[in-house]
Amino acid sequence: MTDTMTKACSACLTTIDASATRCSNCTQRQPDSGLSRDVQGRVLGGVCAALAQHFNWDVTLMRIVFVSSLAVTGGLVFWVYLATWLMTPFAKNERAPMARFFDAVGNVFSPPRSQPQHVSSGE
Ligand SMILES: [Zn+2]
Repeated sequence: MTDTMTKACSACLTTIDASATRCSNCTQRQPDSGLSRDVQGRVLGGVCAALAQHFNWDVTLMRIVFVSSLAVTGGLVFWVYLATWLMTPFAKNERAPMARFFDAVGNVFSPPRSQPQHVSSGE
């Protein structure tokens, strides 16, 4: 977590937004963009692509490692995948699916806030 609001692009050194995952000038992916699933090459939940980006791996390599470990652990890695998906926001400025789920649950159990009710006349 940095306090700076801007950063320099790793490729062209253009000053871009600190939360930007891509340079607005040269569209180069920023290495310090952190773990989010708003990445290219996502197939399922995008976790493999996000992890590949995070560790600067090749996405194909990450998928091979994922599928291999899936076979070795007898599916245990799937739950790790699922947990990672739940805790990873789609984009850096979005909330993780799990957080959004708890938001939705909270909304269900709290009374609706001043929602105007349009009662249609039975004309
Ligand atoms: Zn750039």
